[in-house]
Amino acid sequence: MEKLQSLRGMVDLLPHETIVWQKIEATAQRHFKRASVSEIRTPLLEVTDLFARGIGEATDVVGKEMYSFSDKGGRNCTLRPEGTASVVRAAIQHGLTKQGSQRFWYSGPMFRYERPQAGRQRQFHQLGLEFLGFSDPRSDVEAISIAWDLLSELGIGELKLELNSLGDKEDRVSYRNHLVTWLEQRRELLDEESRERLEKNPLRILDSKNPKTKELLLDAPKLTKTLGHKSLERFEKVQAGLNDLEIPFQLNPSLVRGLDYYSHTAFEITSSQLGAQATVCGGGRYDGLVEQLGGPATSAIGWALGMERLVLLLSQAKQNNLATKPDIYIVNRGIEAESLALVLARKLRSKGQIVEIDLSGSAFGKQLKRANRSGAELALLIGEDEAAQQQAIIKELNTKNLEGPSDKRVTIESLLARFA
Ligand code: ATP
Ligand code: MG
Repeated sequence: MEKLQSLRGMVDLLPHETIVWQKIEATAQRHFKRASVSEIRTPLLEVTDLFARGIGEATDVVGKEMYSFSDKGGRNCTLRPEGTASVVRAAIQHGLTKQGSQRFWYSGPMFRYERPQAGRQRQFHQLGLEFLGFSDPRSDVEAISIAWDLLSELGIGELKLELNSLGDKEDRVSYRNHLVTWLEQRRELLDEESRERLEKNPLRILDSKNPKTKELLLDAPKLTKTLGHKSLERFEKVQAGLNDLEIPFQLNPSLVRGLDYYSHTAFEITSSQLGAQATVCGGGRYDGLVEQLGGPATSAIGWALGMERLVLLLSQAKQNNLATKPDIYIVNRGIEAESLALVLARKLRSKGQIVEIDLSGSAFGKQLKRANRSGAELALLIGEDEAAQQQAIIKELNTKNLEGPSDKRVTIESLLARFA
C-alpha cells in the first residue's frame, strides 16, 4: 500500500519542537500582556475577496500563492495567507474601530503555495501585532519596540532592524514615475519577473530577491529622497523615538515589503544567523487598509513574526534542552498497586507536580530503568505490600548520593503532605 505522507510544505511539529514553540509563545504572551495588547482569533478560512482587496491582486501572495477553492455552497474561499486583512475585517465587522483605538495580537497558521525550503513552508505560523487607530509616530516606535524586546529576550543573536519610509500616496506616485523612467532605461538588465512588474507594480521590483537585480537597484533613485516635507518629518520622529529607546537601526531605502497596503514606516528585523531566509519579522504602517476594506478611515501599524524561523534560530542556539521531564515517576505492579498509583498520580498532579506513571505492568527492574531515563528526580515504588499498607517507597534518582541507599518507606498520607 502506498505510504501516506504529509503534503509538501506542510510540516509536523514533534514534541522536541513544540517545547521551543511553547517557550516562544509564553514569552510573547507576557510581552503583549505587559504592553496592554489583547488577543484576537479569526478563522483560517475567509472569502477570497478579502485578500484580493486587502493585499492587492498584483502581489505574489494573491497572484500566485493562495490556497483558494469554492466550497459546497459555491463561495470563493481562501486559506488565509497572512493575518492583517482578517484582523481588520473582524474589527470592522464587530464595530471595534468605532470604539476607539485597539491593540491586538494574533498567532496561528498561514498558507502560501511557495517553494518549500528551510524557513519557508506552505503552512507556516505567524505571531503578529496590529495597532488600529494610531497615527502618532510614537505608535510606530512602540510597535517596533515590542518586537525588538521580544526577540531580544528570546536570545535571538545578531538582530538587525532595517527601516524605511514609503511616504504617503502622493509621495509614492511621484516616486513611481521617477523609478519607472530610471528602470525603463535599464530594461534589458532586468530579470523577466521585474520586467513584468514594471507595468503592473514597479515598486515591487525593489523587493526582488534576484541578486543581479538587487545589485542594479543599488543605484536606483531612492524613495526617501522624494518624500514630501510632512512624511519626512514623520519619519524623523520615528527614528528619534527609536534612538531614545536605544534600539539600533539601519536605514534601507530599498525596503518596500511584499504586500501592497503599506505606507510611511516599513521595517524588517533580520538575523544573519538565518542565511537566505533572513527576515524574522516584517511590518509597517497601513493607513489605507481599513478604509479599503469598507471601514472608516483608520490609521494602523503592525508586524508579523515567522515562528518557524524563530524556532530555527533558537534550535541553532541550542537553547532547547527543555524537554518535558517529570518531577516524579511512579513504578507500580500488581492489581492493588496499579489502582493506587493512578489515584496517587492524580493527587500529586493536583498539587502541581509533573507525574509520569508507568503503565507497562512489567517487572520492577525494567520500570526502574525507564524511571532513570525519564529524567525525574524521584521515583515512587508501589508493589502489592506497599498498596496493602497504603504506603510507597521514595527513591531518589539521578543523584550522586554516596551515603548509601536513599530509599524511604512512607505512608501515602505523609507523602502527599510533603507536596502541600
Ligand atoms: P519573505 O520575503 O521571506 O517571503 P514576506 O515578505 O513574504 O517574507 P511577510 O508576509 O511579511 O513575509 O510575513 C512576515 C514573516 O512571516 C516573514 O518575515 C517570515 O518570517 C514569515 N514567513 C513568510 N512567509 C513564510 C513562509 N512561506 N514560511 C515560513 N515563514 C514565512
Ligand atoms: Mg514571501
